[in-house]
This record gives sequence, structure tokens and C-alpha cells, in this order.
Amino acid sequence: MDLLSSRINSLPISATLAMAAKARELKNKGVDIIGLSLGEPDFNTPEFIKNAAVKAVEDNWNSYSPVDGYLDLKKAICNKFKRDNKINYKTSQIVVSTGAKQSIANVCMVLLNPGDEVLLPAPYWVSYSAIATLAEAKSTIIPSTIESDFKITPEQLQAAITSKTKLVMFNSPNNPSGTIYTEKELFALGEVLKNHPNIFILSDEIYEHINYGTPHFSIASIPELYERTVTVNGVAKAFAMTGWRIGYIGAPEWIAKACNKMQGQITSGANCIAQRATIAAVKAPVKNIQYMVDEFSKRREIIIKLLKAIPGIKVNQPHGAFYVFPNISAYFGKILGGKKIENAADFALYLLEEAHVATVNGDAFGNGDCIRISYAASEENIRTAIDRIAKALQ
Ligand code: GLU
Repeated sequence: MDLLSSRINSLPISATLAMAAKARELKNKGVDIIGLSLGEPDFNTPEFIKNAAVKAVEDNWNSYSPVDGYLDLKKAICNKFKRDNKINYKTSQIVVSTGAKQSIANVCMVLLNPGDEVLLPAPYWVSYSAIATLAEAKSTIIPSTIESDFKITPEQLQAAITSKTKLVMFNSPNNPSGTIYTEKELFALGEVLKNHPNIFILSDEIYEHINYGTPHFSIASIPELYERTVTVNGVAKAFAMTGWRIGYIGAPEWIAKACNKMQGQITSGANCIAQRATIAAVKAPVKNIQYMVDEFSKRREIIIKLLKAIPGIKVNQPHGAFYVFPNISAYFGKILGGKKIENAADFALYLLEEAHVATVNGDAFGNGDCIRISYAASEENIRTAIDRIAKALQ
């Protein structure tokens, strides 16, 4: 008899974390795995942020924090939103959480009822659909292809809306494709949403600063959508702070209040030392982290060039984040390593077993023709990994 709840049984395992765990397990067994599955900067957290954390320990920041975050951190976040995103939030509209993932879960839990529909422009980050499922909502995927640079059109958005649509989750720069929607494109999508006042928008901007030249645009800066948009961000990606677990939202006050209540029953305030360190991160001029973005940009050029040289792999040009999302469907139906490749999962498994390179199957992101490769890895590892992939596919 299955004693687990139907809630957990209906939840898929996180494909990104599962692949990372598999790669770690093989590594521990002595297999020379190159992990390109996890989106995790390989840099150290910058010194000025680490120093702020050390000072917080020394200054005895060890008590529970307010559930929604320290006031001075929330003020710093408001300033950041104004500086980078042209959005005005009051501190009562900010909730600091244990990672952007918790921020997203809070928003879904407080807005969605069973049977509500959530629109997911694909490809989308793996946990969006899983979190929507947890909230007993139904996900509707709006597909895109490599030919459209993995972007959806206003017509597609309009066609996907029903009377049950409650939330749409945007993510630009996008994980897994690296696609960035321009201001003009977001305005066009926004025009559709303006006509549907019952739909809320979650704009996940966690890759905002990992951008190779397209100006970032925040949906909440469109005045008509401000009252129904939640902007999600965090410090993990831009400041190489994945393990510190700090995310935050800027939201209409009533949504922020509800998230505060939800978080108060589940985790309370986020880690106090990490919050103090985050103040240093969000206050710092963006140019302080440009060296990491420059390095990612260099690696992007390298990986694209190498992937383009492999027959049967169609490569997109990512403009942000640190992922590339190649279409590998030309290999479907082919025999590799004695096994027929039926889908992207088979393909990713083959790369893991034969080339010892960990990637993530695109199905988990709502596009089964692709795999996700993270280039948040050293240049040497990228070169070796793609070389191994090329050999395994010969
Ligand atoms: N967001 C990162 C990724 O997509 C971290 C892993 C996760 O939390 O899913 O790889």
C-alpha cells in the first residue's frame, strides 16, 4: 500500500537536480563526469559579499529575522528595483525568501485554486509546472521552437487563455534557452493581458544580470500591469550565491502579505547571515559582477561554435543566462551505442553513459526536441565535454 500522499506522488522529481545527483553519484564512483546539467556559476561569491557575511556573524546576527526579511534589506531591494527595473515598490511589497524557488512556490500557493489554469510559455523552467501541480492547478504549455528563437507570439498567448486562466509565468532571460524578450515583445504580450484583468503575471527575472547585450525589461514597469504582476528575483545567479538561498519578490501589497503569511507557517524568515550578505550584493553597482558576465559570454561563443560543428545538432543563440538549448531531434530513431534513441531523455542518457557528460533532457522544460547544456563551467571542461559529445555522436 502506498502510504505517501497523492500530492507527492503526483509530483515529478526535479530533472535538473536529479541529473546533478546522478552525475555526482557517478563521480563518487570514480567516473570522470563533466557536469553541464546544473545552472550554477562556477565562481566564488565576490569578496565584498563574503565580508558582509563574516561581519554579520561577528556582529551576532543570529536571531529569527522578520518573516518577510530585514527592513534594511527590503529597502535595498526597493532601491534595486527602482535602479534596474524602473519599478516602484514600497517595503511592504517585498518578501525575502529562501531562494527564488520558494518565492515562486509562495506566489502559486497564495494565488491558485484547484482547477485554475497556469500558462507556461515553453520552454519553461522545470519547477514551474511542478509547483503549479502542487497548488492543484493545471498547466497549459504554449509551445515555441528554435526557429522562433523560443519565443511565443501574442496570438499564441491569446489563444491559450480560457475563463480558468489565473496566472502566466514569464522568464526572461530564459532558463533553459537563454532567450530574452525585448521591451517591444513584452509590450505586445502585455497588450493581450491588458484585456484579461483576471490574469496575474509572475515575471521570473533571476537571470536579469546575465545578459549579453539586450536591454532587460520588467513587465511590472508597464503601468496597466503593475497591479497584477509579481516580479521574482534573487542573488543566486548574478552573485554566484546559489547555496546561500536568498530570493525575493516585489508584488502588490495584498499578495506580498499573503506570501508572508504562507512563509510564516512553512519556513519563517530566510537565513539571517545570508540576508545581511544580500544587502551588500543588491546595493553594489552592477559593474562589480561584470567580470563573471564577460567570462560567461566568452564561454557562450566557444560552446556555440563547438556545437555548431556537430552534424545533426541545431543550435540557438542565447542572449542571456548560461544555457544553450540545442535541438537534437535529428538523432531520434537512430541507433547509438546499440540502443535506439527515441527521445531527448534517451539522448541525454546516452551522453551521460557514453561521453560522461551530464546535460538535462528538454522534456522537463516543455520541449522534447532539445536538451539543455549549462556553460557555467570552466572553458576547459566545456571544450572537453563538447569534444566527447562530438566523438560519441560520430
Ligand atoms: N535553477 C537551476 C537550474 O535550472 C538550479 C537547479 C534547480 O533548482 O532546479 O539548473
